Amino acid sequence: MLAVSEAAPVGAGATLQERLARALSQLRDADLYRVRRIVDGGHGVQMRVDGRRCVNFCSNDYLGLATDPRVAEAARRVLARDGTGSSASALICGHNREHRALEEALAEFVGRPRALLFSSGWAANLGVLRALLGKDDVLVADELNHASLIDGGRLSGARYVRVAHADVQGFDDALRLALVERPQALRLVVTDSVFSMDGDVAPLLPLSRLCEARGAALMVDDAHGFGVLGASGQGACALHVVQPQVYVATLGKSLGCAGAFVAGSHELIEYLVQRARSWVFSTAPPPALAAAARAALAIVAGAEGAERRARLFANVARFRSGCRQCGIALGASETPIQPLIVGSETATLALSRRLYDAGLWVAAIRPPTVPRGTSRLRVTLTAAHTDAQIDHLVDALREAVSSLQEGTAVAGN
Ligand SMILES: *Cc1c(COP(=O)(O)O)cnc(C)c1O
Repeated sequence: MLAVSEAAPVGAGATLQERLARALSQLRDADLYRVRRIVDGGHGVQMRVDGRRCVNFCSNDYLGLATDPRVAEAARRVLARDGTGSSASALICGHNREHRALEEALAEFVGRPRALLFSSGWAANLGVLRALLGKDDVLVADELNHASLIDGGRLSGARYVRVAHADVQGFDDALRLALVERPQALRLVVTDSVFSMDGDVAPLLPLSRLCEARGAALMVDDAHGFGVLGASGQGACALHVVQPQVYVATLGKSLGCAGAFVAGSHELIEYLVQRARSWVFSTAPPPALAAAARAALAIVAGAEGAERRARLFANVARFRSGCRQCGIALGASETPIQPLIVGSETATLALSRRLYDAGLWVAAIRPPTVPRGTSRLRVTLTAAHTDAQIDHLVDALREAVSSLQEGTAVAGN
């Protein structure tokens, strides 16, 4: 029998328990320790958190669909009829008519021949990159890409070329070099569309043209653009009129559900069905979840979706102009992701705690989620926020920032 004894040596003479304890105390000392707050009930704008009420400004539920009764009803109908589980991976016996209907609706919505449903965006990115790339291939990636793209790229074994954020010339240099050094290789450019911690949008059209000119393929992760950007919510690629060979978006953000999909050519999807290990060897999502996502998609695609997006961007504008008026410096983001870069972990946590005490939940984002020295409050706006809630946030931010600055000034004297 194999047992892990607390006394067994691990690595450099420390037991596993000792290593864990040391690592945890280092994280605590560096203000990088993370804890979960417990939400009671629905994950809407008004939440009960650890027993108190607060207004949420850090969710990705951009259109307010996570608590929409019509979406829940679609899930309930299938749950009541067919139960919870899909019972196996899609290739064994887990592929349900609800999954297929959702895949068809998603493919049609984003204007691609086919789509494939994954249980999460993380699984989709890992599965796709590992399936498409071998060790002789080259992946050219924006340095601020989501962690799942980084891990998927590493897992693939391909040469990983990290390019400075949104640097089209950098992508070009990397592709030229790859062509000289590995003329036979598949060269794949991968980027987030909307960068999840900064809110800026990748230079999709220049990147797409570049890929075409250099014979490279393009993969775009549109987790934060899908449902939000574009006239009908088809996402950042529709807005910028680009068609990447590999399009990934998630169902856990603007659709208020969970899961993800990859869209592309018939051959791409058939190949992933054969080869994407995170899909092949994973239980298919509950059919009820697919039904919920399809109901959410119908709202996103319809007139109500357009109204919600209009409301969302009016909320973004209200927040930005409120901050501008009281001298809070935001970045250039025009999306619902509005970070306030603070710098130190300690100050970011202090701001977040102050806001929380005022009944506002804004997460403190720290390394390794963002580069060291760029810890930030990541404010996200949704269509479900009211003017009064946004004004309250701006006021509370102004007070928190100025009291922090006074504190720093006093401490510095
Ligand atoms: C959230 C996110 C993912 C992961 O999707 P999940 O469905 O939450 O696993 C992938 N990429 C980006 C850019 C994301 O923001």
